[in-house]
Amino acid sequence: MSVRVRFAPSPTGELHIGGLRTALFNFLLARKHSGTFILRIEDTDRKRFDQHSADHIQQALRWAGLDWDEGPIFQSQRIEIYQKYSQELVDRGAAYPCFCTPERLEQMRKAQEAQKLPPRYDRRCRALSPRERNQFLVEGYPHTIRMMVPEGTTSFHDIVYGNITVRNQELDDQVLMRSDGYPTYHLGHLVDDHLMQITQVIRGEEWLPSTPKHVILYHAFGWEIPQLCHVPNILAGRGQGKLSKRHGAVSVIAYMQEGYLPQAVINFLALLGWSPGNDQEIFTMEELIQAFSLERVAHTGAIFNREKLNFTNGYYIRQTPLAELACQIKPYLVQAGQISAEDTIQQPFLLQALQTVQERMKTLSEAPDLLSFYFNPPEVPASLLVPKKSTMEEIRASLAGAISLLSTIEDFTAPVLEKALRQYTVENGLATARVLWPIRAALTGKEASPGAFEVLQVLGKDESLRRLEKALTVLDSPKTLD
Ligand code: GLU
Repeated sequence: MSVRVRFAPSPTGELHIGGLRTALFNFLLARKHSGTFILRIEDTDRKRFDQHSADHIQQALRWAGLDWDEGPIFQSQRIEIYQKYSQELVDRGAAYPCFCTPERLEQMRKAQEAQKLPPRYDRRCRALSPRERNQFLVEGYPHTIRMMVPEGTTSFHDIVYGNITVRNQELDDQVLMRSDGYPTYHLGHLVDDHLMQITQVIRGEEWLPSTPKHVILYHAFGWEIPQLCHVPNILAGRGQGKLSKRHGAVSVIAYMQEGYLPQAVINFLALLGWSPGNDQEIFTMEELIQAFSLERVAHTGAIFNREKLNFTNGYYIRQTPLAELACQIKPYLVQAGQISAEDTIQQPFLLQALQTVQERMKTLSEAPDLLSFYFNPPEVPASLLVPKKSTMEEIRASLAGAISLLSTIEDFTAPVLEKALRQYTVENGLATARVLWPIRAALTGKEASPGAFEVLQVLGKDESLRRLEKALTVLDSPKTLD
């Protein structure tokens, strides 16, 4: 049987990075087996439905390269189907209408809480006689449909968690249909997984406790149960809980905005909870598809490691051809006011400048800061111009010498500049830092930046000399030097 899997998010907020990982695992399995990857939007909770979220989920999946083969299928457009199957369960004696009012249920919940009991429906409406039940229905009392949990135990197998058995007395008579006529997740997903011939249900571990109820429903319908695979949560740190908003950005859109590349996020997420069985760290999507298997998903929660994500992102940024990277950083430069939206990004000055910082860029959003000195001449205090173990007089002298030398060079390119400046240090018996540090500091205003030769070349002779002269004036009348 060919593999058919689905990603079935509820559009109630921004797509969590853990949701993207669930989508990825589904996608990888489908591609590996030349199967079908379905996108199903589970939008039956009308109170929490958010159209923006439904759009954003699709945008995030496309961005990440997780194209789906069928869908998006919106459950809200399939209501009659769930109503039919809910009725079928009632007819089979596996579900029943519940007329309890929200107020009564709320009181019951509070009483259980006070007695430290798990919240559970007390099954009052199970005990209604057929006559009472019919009468209420005829009179049109609002009602939900609840599953009737049978006695005994329920067992199933999960690919990650192994064999699980629970006593049914621990299970609640779950609401399957709300009083507004929409199904709850529990019925909706199950009916769809069956009708859509899903072969593997891959989803977050938070659904594991509900799975026995789903298994009971499969039995009640007489349907085959797909393979089940619950993926452990992404943890914020060792001994910490699930990664959530209080730990920083968790929505995929936030990572997109911060300038993480989709390949990096995919590579990073794949290794969160799944292991290839060797120490390979960088994977193309094609390699992931080849290597992936559900059997190698670990059942311990995987820890979200931001440094590792940054490292991976830095790797992919370095791999990106310069012209392409330039297009990717353009929106950030425009937003920072460094260029305008009409400016072409493919101009030699910008490309060369970008090349000098590509190596150290961890996210695209760092570009404006890393490149800032190219756009705006920095204010450089004397304290930055003078490296440790040098005096101001020494630096003034070496800088003045360097300026005279640079003003004689016509071919203002990094190799020529490097040769000339190194010769200058040797001839004058100067430590390299005494010459290169103040030049670099004067040009960039930064403690850490690309090297002096490259920056000189990108800024060009006139602008470089202007900045160096200015630094010399600062050294002549320093405002601060501590
Ligand atoms: N709508 C559910 C969610 O967003 C889907 C769970 C499942 O994949 O079965 O968590």
